[in-house]
Amino acid sequence: MLDEMDLTVDPTTEAADELSIRETRLCAGCGRPESHWRENDGAGYLANDGHTYCCRGCADQTGCTCG
Ligand SMILES: [Zn+2]
Ligand SMILES: [Zn+2]
Repeated sequence: MLDEMDLTVDPTTEAADELSIRETRLCAGCGRPESHWRENDGAGYLANDGHTYCCRGCADQTGCTCG
């Protein structure tokens, strides 16, 4: 099964760089899509580790407060 996965990997990933910028961001903590973030009017919370979280609760690992 692993061999099949290797064969299906497309090495031409450079073209996907521009598209990836427009992908929906996910909270680095709970995986909530950006459209469901509530911190900063939906902009999310940028933590010191460089990741953007849906809310401060996820950034501090105290629990998501978006729900
Ligand atoms: Zn989160
Ligand atoms: Zn949250």
